[in-house]
Amino acid sequence: MTHDELKQQELDKRYMRMATIWAENSYCKRRQVGALIVKDKMIISDGYNGTPSGFENVCEDENDVTKPYVLHAEANAITKIARSSNSSEGATMYVTASPCIECAKLIIQAGIRRVVYSEKYRLEDGLDLLRKANVEVVYLNLKE
Ligand SMILES: [Zn+2]
Repeated sequence: MTHDELKQQELDKRYMRMATIWAENSYCKRRQVGALIVKDKMIISDGYNGTPSGFENVCEDENDVTKPYVLHAEANAITKIARSSNSSEGATMYVTASPCIECAKLIIQAGIRRVVYSEKYRLEDGLDLLRKANVEVVYLNLKE
């Protein structure tokens, strides 16, 4: 590994640790996911999974099933950018779980060029879609 690659890996680990801490903000009980969007070494957005604004902070129904309108961390981070003066064009997303296909579509449309994720999921269709759109996908497990 070159010096630059090592440096990038250290940065990636640091941001992923921050995304993991950010996930703790989620009031969802079944699963907590955090996402950060970084551009030019600045965090320009963040998100965690949860209900849309104005809805009560409960993600699961009485059967412990996640409500269909719960937004994923990636979607929350991307929509937050849309309401700011920032642009995610060329940015990197750090997300504590492997993106689903719905979030992958948003990531592509947001112009994000690199996705670093830490938790594998049985479905890989989101990752496949990102790769198809030439988004660099990096798996990073902090426990390794
Ligand atoms: Zn998703």
